[in-house]
Amino acid sequence: MKRLFLGLVAFSLLFNPVSRAEEMKNEGAKEIPKTEAEWKKRLTPEQYDICRLKGTERPFTGAYYDNHDKGMYRCVVCGNALFSSDTKFDSGTGWPSFSDPAVKQNVRLIEDRSHGMTRVEAVCAKCGAHLGHVFEDGPTASGMRYCINSASLDFEKKDS
Ligand SMILES: [Zn+2]
Repeated sequence: MKRLFLGLVAFSLLFNPVSRAEEMKNEGAKEIPKTEAEWKKRLTPEQYDICRLKGTERPFTGAYYDNHDKGMYRCVVCGNALFSSDTKFDSGTGWPSFSDPAVKQNVRLIEDRSHGMTRVEAVCAKCGAHLGHVFEDGPTASGMRYCINSASLDFEKKDS
């Protein structure tokens, strides 16, 4: 399973999902910051720390870990559609957790060897914002747990 998972990561790296994702209609699209100054101006200090410097918010402090409303979680930086509420589950970790991306090409997976661990980092395929990490202990059929910082997300509530 581990080998298959890393194979999938390698595949997603080779696949270069950006161009495909850009072809998709994206209502929430916002311009991607070009300079560090623009990133800082666009984001709060906490969002900048997480999205740009790959930080992690403290568990049970984010806006969305306990959000049960229906809707779309978009990238807080560029508006890319990342996760649907349909795949959100209560992981008990204190971070919003999803079994799958809303659109596979919109979330890119990268091997992360920081902090003496080998993990899989999830980033927005469009702007490169750090989102969180992916683990293979999800409770649904996908077997995946996308453990995502609330600060990287902008929730668009769906009425009805
Ligand atoms: Zn983005």
